[in-house]
Amino acid sequence: MSEAVTAPAYRIIPIIPVLKPGAMEGSGPYVANDKIQGALGFPGELVDDWHDQAIAKMGELLGKYRSLKVYMDSCVHCGACSDKCHYFIGTQDPKNMPVARQDLMRSVYRRYFTLPGKIFPKLVGARDLTREVLDEWHNYFHQCSDCRRCSVFCPYGIDTAEVTMAAREILDSVGYGQKYSNEIIGKVHKIGNNLGLPGPALRDTLEGLEEDVKEDTGIDVRFPIDVKGAEVLFITPSADFFAEPHIDSLIGYAKVFHATGTSWTLSSMSSEAANFGMFIGNYEQLRTIAMRIREVALELGVKRIVVGECGHAWRVAYSFWNTLTGVGDGADPNDRFAMMLQKQLDHRYKQPMHVCEYTWDMIEQGALSFDKEANDKHIITFHDSCNVARGSSMGGYPGGQFDIPRNIIKAVANNFVEMSPSTTHERTFCCGGGGGLLTDDLLDLRVKGALPRMEVLQQVADEHGVNFMACICAICKAQFTKVMPIYGFDRRMIGGVHQLVSNAIKLGAK
Ligand code: SF4
Ligand code: SF4
Repeated sequence: MSEAVTAPAYRIIPIIPVLKPGAMEGSGPYVANDKIQGALGFPGELVDDWHDQAIAKMGELLGKYRSLKVYMDSCVHCGACSDKCHYFIGTQDPKNMPVARQDLMRSVYRRYFTLPGKIFPKLVGARDLTREVLDEWHNYFHQCSDCRRCSVFCPYGIDTAEVTMAAREILDSVGYGQKYSNEIIGKVHKIGNNLGLPGPALRDTLEGLEEDVKEDTGIDVRFPIDVKGAEVLFITPSADFFAEPHIDSLIGYAKVFHATGTSWTLSSMSSEAANFGMFIGNYEQLRTIAMRIREVALELGVKRIVVGECGHAWRVAYSFWNTLTGVGDGADPNDRFAMMLQKQLDHRYKQPMHVCEYTWDMIEQGALSFDKEANDKHIITFHDSCNVARGSSMGGYPGGQFDIPRNIIKAVANNFVEMSPSTTHERTFCCGGGGGLLTDDLLDLRVKGALPRMEVLQQVADEHGVNFMACICAICKAQFTKVMPIYGFDRRMIGGVHQLVSNAIKLGAK
């Protein structure tokens, strides 16, 4: 499929794209089959009375999530969000303007849930939910990566990602789900990770890594798994176990734990930080996936939970684990197991903690030493991953999620360059593969969605010789590895922050 996909031409000055109506109307993900749907408790195929069920589900969500109702009612169509979406910039399809994406649902909302829409539908832009509209939802709500960039620019704070998640939940409820995300969620339920990597294979991989690191450094760096009584339970995206460049960050985490003398463990039962329940907007799936982590934490008796480099996983851990599972402040006092976990965890430490917080804390305490010259071949920039930038924090202060990864990079490397400020920090662009879109059936969309980040990367490559873009997200790593060559970059230009840590850390120095 990649041969047929070409990168859009860079724009000389970033400008509002020329409109290409209908450019992406045929672009949709594969529909989940009955087996995939059934494993998640969703109808196996589009149900006969899908219209009534979809409207009923919409009513349920409007009642359950006040924000959704507010978003449906409060848009003034000012247009401030319209050119802020990477998918609109890359595809030029006006339906990929965030406001237009919201209107796909808002028009149906008006028809069935507002008086003017019931009486004068045409006057207020209200539409019946027809099969054509449902198909449009399936396609265009899978051209949004839930990245929330548009909401930063909206004077009312309308969050298109929440609208997208609600639409996907409605689609699942009538048997019209997306193959990629739902299949992955099924694998987590059955095996414990997105890849369907069973425990013995995981153990083999980790043993192989121990041998590789020993050969490379001469030091016995361990990758422990299922260790009862370990202090730290480490939860990381399963891509870290085998994919390039992800695995280099896994080696980096292990070296940090080794150098700080921390007892830590991975888990075969909960070998996945990712939680695609968020992408499909389904609370039950979100909770069931997260619950595996609590079960393992209780079983192993760990004192701390640390999360590896993954954008949406950190958003789920930071923003939702407390109420979902009882990890962190805000656990439900009526939930016996949440209270058990609260008692077990060591509250002198942040719970949960991001691995960047852990490493930066150790650096600040002087517990780690680095040979910064080991990274001298790299001129490094940093891509803020959208879910970390706009859905979480680090270090216990606003903006910590921007400072801490950069602080680490500067502590382990000599050459760091920022990209244009209009595309970093809270204004960062999504990589183009987030939100459940990292699938080859959407490769054309992914390539086009990467355009704004590729343009700015090209700028710093031309002006400063940047040859390495660090990030802290498994999806960004996988997406950029795939699309960068299409834009003429070397796929090895993308890597993790802990990959840089791994290059420079002095093992056994302290
Ligand atoms: S992809 Fe991001 S910027 Fe585009 S509509 Fe969705 S949330 Fe908004
Ligand atoms: S910026 Fe907000 S109010 Fe303005 S069009 Fe976009 S969603 Fe509507």
